Amino acid sequence: MKHLFLACSLLFTFVAAAQDTYIHSGKILDTKTGKILTNKTIIVSENKIQEIRDGFVQPARPSDSLIDLKEMFLLPGLTDMHVHLESETNPSKYLERFTNEPADDAFNSVGFAETTLLAGFTTVRDLGGTGVNISLRDAINKGKVKGPRIFTSGKSLATTGGHADPSNGMNRLLAGDPGPREGVVNSAEDARKAVRYRYKNGADLIKITATGGVLSVAKSSSNPQFTVEEIKAIVDIAEDYDYHVAAHAHGDEGMQRAIMGGVTTIEHGTLISDATMELMKQHGTYLVPTITAGKEVTEKAEIENYYPELVVPKAREIGPQLQTTFGKAYKKGVKIAFGTDAGVFEHGKNAKEFGYMVEAGMPAIEAIQSATIVPAQIFKMENELGQIAPGFLADIIAVQEDPTININILEDVQFVMKDGKIYKD
Ligand SMILES: [Zn+2]
Repeated sequence: MKHLFLACSLLFTFVAAAQDTYIHSGKILDTKTGKILTNKTIIVSENKIQEIRDGFVQPARPSDSLIDLKEMFLLPGLTDMHVHLESETNPSKYLERFTNEPADDAFNSVGFAETTLLAGFTTVRDLGGTGVNISLRDAINKGKVKGPRIFTSGKSLATTGGHADPSNGMNRLLAGDPGPREGVVNSAEDARKAVRYRYKNGADLIKITATGGVLSVAKSSSNPQFTVEEIKAIVDIAEDYDYHVAAHAHGDEGMQRAIMGGVTTIEHGTLISDATMELMKQHGTYLVPTITAGKEVTEKAEIENYYPELVVPKAREIGPQLQTTFGKAYKKGVKIAFGTDAGVFEHGKNAKEFGYMVEAGMPAIEAIQSATIVPAQIFKMENELGQIAPGFLADIIAVQEDPTININILEDVQFVMKDGKIYKD
């Protein structure tokens, strides 16, 4: 009994000595209502926002710390729903498949993750790599490496020769015949096995390539590459593991099959028809626009030998269309979730997407919501992610001006807190 009492009093001492962080906040964007709150104190306890008080409140205990952001504009940490943290575009990228060890990719990804976090993106969805992205997520969660909170698909799923077949472009001796474990499926049975493999490897969601893609060494950028049955099988099994499914798609037919099959997000959506937009509205499917990737790929296609010969015409065709597609889909009322495809261009430039979205007709506040409260819905974390409010994760960033007036200020984030820990001040 005496020991128990001693243990309790020790525990009490420990709790009482814990350190809270008081943030004097000049302006806070309420991402739920779009309103701006002025002169508040955010009290952060461990990894959560404990309380928001009126005025500038002094810390209660000597062990608490105070951060002065009275002159700043605060908003919740941003989420990019489409990144590839394992790699970054460069002219040798296609060769690196043969020359890089997994450890090389891992070391590179550490820098990309930190760059992304310091740009204000405290959460990302990693849509495909070799599986290093799973280890990266774990290292970040354990505090070994600095980076955003990651939800990852591990290795994405393709069909033979499809976008994300890892042996595309290799000679027949090297290519072999990759299967479900490597992310290549050709039947509903393969599809189920591939999803279960992802679960075994520790993925958080599933990514499929419903149509051809721009950067793969294959002819078509947009042909359908899965049957509806295969997609349905993937989505069904994914649900067993509480996974959602993201579908890369440029062509309309493949996009329709993916939506009918039950995927949650369509990535890119380049050649979308009016009928498919209606279908997305009916099914509640989100579009992840990746306009920045479109712009950057279009530019790089003009640099001699930057991409393989087979890729250049696809980049020229698809790249310039993404912003227009996004504008049409937004006006039609399709749900939009912010995503850039960073890795296809340099990491850390993610916030450029906001400017492109606004340029195409989306109000700034909605663009910000697409990177805060909308991703929270997709991750089923509406009560934890995407808002500066009591009980939410303490992911807070700050910029010098009101981003609803000057959206490009989000490219210059001055303060970053993730899970209550400050990474940039
Ligand atoms: Zn991508």
